[in-house]
Amino acid sequence: MDSPAAFRFDNSFARELEGFYTPWRPVPAPAPRLLFLNRPLADELGLDIASLDDSALAATFAGNTLPDGAEPLAQAYAGHQFGGFSPQLGDGRALVLGEVIDRQGRRRDIAFKGSGRTPFARGGDGKAAVGPMLREVLIGEAMHALGIPTTRALAVVATGEPVFREQTLPGAVLTRVAASHIRVGTFEFHSARGDVDSLRKLAEYTIARHDPALATSPQPLLALLQAVAGRQAALIAQWLNVGFIHGVMNTDNMAISGETIDFGPCAFVEAYDPDTVFSSIDHQGRYAFGNQPDIALWNLARLAETLLPLLADDPEKAVAMATEVLAAFPAQYRGHLLRGQRAKLGLRRGEPDDDGADAALAGDWLTLLHAEQVDFTLGWRRLADAAAGDEAPLRALFADAHAPDAWLSRWHARCASEDPVAQDSASAGIERANAMRSVNPLVIARNHRVEEALAAASNEGDLAPFERLLDALRRPYDEAPELAPYAEPAPASVTARYRTFCGT
Ligand code: AMP
Ligand code: MG
Repeated sequence: MDSPAAFRFDNSFARELEGFYTPWRPVPAPAPRLLFLNRPLADELGLDIASLDDSALAATFAGNTLPDGAEPLAQAYAGHQFGGFSPQLGDGRALVLGEVIDRQGRRRDIAFKGSGRTPFARGGDGKAAVGPMLREVLIGEAMHALGIPTTRALAVVATGEPVFREQTLPGAVLTRVAASHIRVGTFEFHSARGDVDSLRKLAEYTIARHDPALATSPQPLLALLQAVAGRQAALIAQWLNVGFIHGVMNTDNMAISGETIDFGPCAFVEAYDPDTVFSSIDHQGRYAFGNQPDIALWNLARLAETLLPLLADDPEKAVAMATEVLAAFPAQYRGHLLRGQRAKLGLRRGEPDDDGADAALAGDWLTLLHAEQVDFTLGWRRLADAAAGDEAPLRALFADAHAPDAWLSRWHARCASEDPVAQDSASAGIERANAMRSVNPLVIARNHRVEEALAAASNEGDLAPFERLLDALRRPYDEAPELAPYAEPAPASVTARYRTFCGT
């Protein structure tokens, strides 16, 4: 079969960073079958796939026919996993096919996951299963619809081959799109080898790719660290404001681009508790919901360490420079968090919160949700109804309907303080409610809905529940009757037993 010229590749990583990867080929799938194709994303990428039928698409996205211009490679990286350092991880079952420039001029990696063993596979089989790859689709599309920077799934193909985990599962290959696959762990790989030249090359490549404006700054590498920290501060604040738990924030799973990457054991908080952990292997709660800002900073410190030899000749000076960047992170994060929380609370003011009153208002709201075991997503969403004058749906979330009385009167007063004197309170309330509904989602990827959809797809080959859920996740702010089942929390007993898994 002719290889389709559907992708216009321009592979800068392969071209400029020889030695940072191993060229490698996907292992062909015996009976590829297309399960999912993200047509809106394909369009955004400018891919010319209209002429490909399902079997050609399946062959392409299984890696059986490599598109013209693809230069598949397995990237080398290291990583701190649960705090312990592994000097060599790398793409054990993933391959970057190449880069395309999308319609908006952004350079994006096209990569496979589950396409067979590579020289970095260690003990792994190089495979992936249908369930976890469709999970990447759901969570990535959910995050994207929520306006959160994320890698996204372009396609999922069933390979027609079993993979052996605790059970025998149907195999799959995911095609993932990312701003790049450069991770904190990519820097650690070269740092661990004391290879300063490679580190410099990697840093220069990263600046050219992600932060070209910094190339002319007086301290480009320090500016890079600052930029990466700034993106993480913004990203983690967004996670916290939608209740997202990544679950395995190892340094190899933190992208320099600031995108959410690697959806393994991730999940959304249900009844609000900052200590929430779903991952079966996170016994200490290292990656618990509320720990994520601290872990991001910890990971950034690992990145900073790799850059020290490049920051200044004098080691003490280099440490001082890096420390200053890291020290700014908590306030940066809190600034992003508060900006998001103000919008969620229906507040428009953008001035600094000098007396801390708005941060306290938001913090006390979360304390209340926690104390009363209220669903995080619905708690925020029903606050919009309260803004419009209907407090009943909000109060119905509380075992004691009067529990939010004191907080609500504070919030109403704070809202009123922003409203123009000339505007009547009813119309101000409706305007506020509409604004709040555009930032407080009704539909998130509820764990029980995700599991239900994946079980049907994986066990019975029934993709209908997956497709319905995907449709709901793509319009998280809509209040349509058919979306109601996706807005319902799982029974608390189900959530209490819910466990997620890595190494999938
Ligand atoms: P992850 O938990 O997906 O972030 O992966 C951590 C490391 O394990 C990476 O180096 C992966 O490439 C590798 N890995 C995970 N699963 C497999 C597998 N089934 N086969 C080979 N390598 C794997
Ligand atoms: Mg990973």
